[in-house]
Amino acid sequence: MSLSEFEIIRRYFAESGLYFDKPGVEIGIGDDAAVLKIPSNKLLVISMDVLVESVHFPKSADASLVANRALAVNLSDLAAMAADPFCFTLGLVLPDADEHWLQGFSEGLLGLAQEFNCPLVGGDTTRGPLSITIQVQGLCEQDGIVRRDSAKPGDKIFVSGYLGDGAIAIKSLGLNSHLGDGFNLEQAKLTESCREYFENAYYKPEPRIALARRCASLVSSGIDVSDGLFGDLGHIVAASGVGALLQTQQFPYSACANSCMSEQNRLQAALFGGDDYELCFSVPPQQCAAFVREAARTDTMVTCIGEIIEGSSIKCLDASGLPMSFDVDSYAHFYGED
Ligand code: ADP
Ligand code: MG
Repeated sequence: MSLSEFEIIRRYFAESGLYFDKPGVEIGIGDDAAVLKIPSNKLLVISMDVLVESVHFPKSADASLVANRALAVNLSDLAAMAADPFCFTLGLVLPDADEHWLQGFSEGLLGLAQEFNCPLVGGDTTRGPLSITIQVQGLCEQDGIVRRDSAKPGDKIFVSGYLGDGAIAIKSLGLNSHLGDGFNLEQAKLTESCREYFENAYYKPEPRIALARRCASLVSSGIDVSDGLFGDLGHIVAASGVGALLQTQQFPYSACANSCMSEQNRLQAALFGGDDYELCFSVPPQQCAAFVREAARTDTMVTCIGEIIEGSSIKCLDASGLPMSFDVDSYAHFYGED
C-alpha cells in the first residue's frame, strides 16, 4: 500500500470524525485495545456482519454507499434486539490503499455513526481481497431485550416500513437475484426516481432503533427482516414453538414496488427476497393499540399483516382468504449468499 497502515487508520478512521468522545468509551482508537465502561444496570449486546466484495456488494459499488450499508445492517441487528447503539469496531481488508475509496468509505460511515451516536473505537486494517467486517456494541436495560422465542398464539404480527424493496432493488441495480428467472421488474415502468428509490432502499436501509426502543416493552418477540419475511418470521415461529397466519393482502408495498412489479413478484420479494432490514414483531392483542400509537411517535409506519397461531408453520392467505402454497425450497438461500 502506498499509504502506510498507520496513516490509513489516522486519516480515515481516528481523525475523520468517526472516533468521537462518548461517555463509557474510556479508550478508543490508538491503544492496543478499546476499553469500554458498561453501566452496571445494562446488558452489552453485540452483533457482527461480514461483507465481501462481489458476494454482498458489487465490485464497482460506491464506497460511501457500501460503508453506509455495512453499518446500517449491523445497527438493524441491534434494533431487532431493542438495544441502543454504543460503539462499533471495523475489520477492513483492502487490496490497495485507494485514497479516493477510503475517503468515500469513511464518509459513508460518518453519517450513521453520528446519527446513532455510535463512535468507531477500534479495528484492524490489513491487505487482501476487499471485505468489510463491522461489529456493533449496544446497551439495553436488563429486562428490555426483544427476543425471538417468546411469541404466543393470538399475538398480532406487525412489520415496519415496506416489504420487498430490498429484493426489488437487486433487480433494479442489475444484480443477480436468487429469486430466479420468473422474478422481474417491468423495466418500462422503472422511472429514474424509482431507480433512485430502490438504490436508497438497498444501500441505505433505515435502522429501526427508535421504533424498537420505544416499543420493546409492548411486543412479545421481534426480528429484523434480512432474508425475507418467510424465513425470518420462520425463526420466530421455530424458536417460540408456534405457527403464523399471514394475510398477504395486507403486506405493505412501496409506490415504486407497486408500479414496477407484478403482484406475484412483489409477494415473492416480500416473502423470499431479503435485504429489507425492517423489523417484524409479535404484539399481544391488548398491547396493539399502544404499539401503533408509540410507533407513530417515532414516525415509523407499521402494518398488521397477520397473527401468531398454534402450530409450527407459516400459512399464507390470499385476498379471498384461501391458503396459498409456495415451493419454499426453490427460494432457499445458499450459504454465503447473504
Ligand atoms: P495492533 O498491531 O496492536 O493490532 P493496529 O496497528 O492494528 O494495532 O491498530 C492500531 C490502533 O488502530 C488500534 O487501536 C486499533 O483498534 C485501531 N485500528 C486499526 N484498524 C482500524 C480500523 N479499520 N478502524 C478503526 N480502528 C482501527
Ligand atoms: Mg491490529
